[in-house]
Amino acid sequence: MNQPQPDRIVIHYHEIALKGDNRPMFIRRLTGNLVKALQGLGKVRILTPRGRILLCLNGETQWPLLGERLSGIFGIANFSPAYSASTDPEAIEALVDRLLDEKKFKTFRISARRGDKAYPLTSMELNVRLGRTVQEKTKASVDLEQPELTIHVEILQREALVYFEKLDGPGGLPVGVSGHVISLISGGIDSPVASYLMMKRGCTIGFVHFHGHPHLTKASLEKAEELVQHLTRHQFESRLYAVAFGEIQRLIVLSVPPPLRVVLYRRFMIRIAEEIAHRERAKAIITGENLGQVASQTLENLTVIQEAARLPILRPLIGFDKDEIIETAKAIGTYSTSILPDQDCCRLFIPPHPSVAAPLSDIEKAERNLDISGLVKMGLETVERMEFSFP
Ligand code: ATP
Ligand code: MG
Repeated sequence: MNQPQPDRIVIHYHEIALKGDNRPMFIRRLTGNLVKALQGLGKVRILTPRGRILLCLNGETQWPLLGERLSGIFGIANFSPAYSASTDPEAIEALVDRLLDEKKFKTFRISARRGDKAYPLTSMELNVRLGRTVQEKTKASVDLEQPELTIHVEILQREALVYFEKLDGPGGLPVGVSGHVISLISGGIDSPVASYLMMKRGCTIGFVHFHGHPHLTKASLEKAEELVQHLTRHQFESRLYAVAFGEIQRLIVLSVPPPLRVVLYRRFMIRIAEEIAHRERAKAIITGENLGQVASQTLENLTVIQEAARLPILRPLIGFDKDEIIETAKAIGTYSTSILPDQDCCRLFIPPHPSVAAPLSDIEKAERNLDISGLVKMGLETVERMEFSFP
C-alpha cells in the first residue's frame, strides 16, 4: 500500500497565545498573512481550532515550497506536516500503525495532547494505549528522555492528528499587528537587519533609500531594491521610495564645515523620511544605526539626529556587536546582497574626520545658512515610488 501523504499542517504559535484580549486579532492577522503567503500553492483551507492553526491540504499542495513559505511567516513558532484520522482511538491506532510501516527506530515515545478536554481518554491514557500498540508492532522500547522517534498525537474536536517532527517557524509577532513604520535602507549590512527585526515585532515597513544621483550612479538603489524584494517575503507587499540626495549633499557641502556634514546629511534624510512617513501614516522611523560603530554613531550625534524629527527614531541594532549583525544578516539572507560593491551616497563628500559630538547649537547654526524646507521639498520632488510583492 502507498505511504499516506500529510493532509494537514499544524501550526503552533506561542508568544501571541499570551496576549489576552488581543489574541483574536493576532490570530486573524496571522491567518490573513497565511492566505497571502500560500497563494499559488493549491487549495488550502485554514481552520483555527483552539490554540493552533490548521492547514487542510488537498493532493495538489506542493510541500517543500509550502514549508519554505511558512518558515518566513512571523508569529509561527513551529509547524508540522501531519496526518488526520477520526478521534476514535482505534482509528488513531490504525493510522499510527500504517505510518510506522516505513519508519525504523529502536526507541520512541508518544506525546499526546488534547485540544478537546471533553475527550474520553486523558493524555496519559492515550500515551499508554498507543505506546503499547507501537511496542507490539515494532518491538521498540519507550524512552521518554531521548527517543529516536517522537510520535505526536493531538486530539481536536473533529479529528485527531499524528505527526513526527516540529519544524522551526521564525517566531515573533504577525506582521501588521504593531502598525506601520518607515525604514531607512541604505544597501549596507545593518539597515536590512534592522528592518527585519521590526517586521518580526509585528510592523509593516515602508522603505526609503537615498542615492547619490546625479553625482553618482544608482548602483546603491539596485541593492536596496534587491534587499526590499527579499524582505517582502515576510510582509507580502512593500513600497520603496528612492530619493536623489546628491544635489542636497552638494549644497550642504558648500556651506557646512566638514566635521558637521555627516550629522547634517542624516538630519536631512530624517526630515525627508518623516514627510514620507506622514503620507504613509507611519508611526516611527527605523535606522540601522548602532552605538559606537562609526564616528557619527555616538549618543550625542544620535540625539542631535533625533532632534530633526517629531516621530521617534527606533534603532533596533543599537546594542548589537557587528559580528552579531553579520550573523543575522547571513541567517536572513540579506548579507550577500549587502556586501556587493556600490556607490553609497554617504561616501560622497564625506569628511575624513566627522565630529563625534556635534553640538546641537553648532548644527543649528550651520543649518541657518540652508533653506531647510526648500531642500526637503527638492528631495521629495525627486522621489520614485516602487512596489514589490511576494509571492
Ligand atoms: P548600513 O549598513 O545600514 O548602511 P552603517 O553602519 O553603514 O549602516 P551608516 O552608513 O552611518 O551606518 O548609516 C546609518 C543608518 O542611516 C543606516 O543603517 C540607514 O538606516 C541610514 N542610511 C545611511 N545611508 C542611507 C541611504 N543611502 N539611504 C537610506 N538610509 C541610509
Ligand atoms: Mg552605510
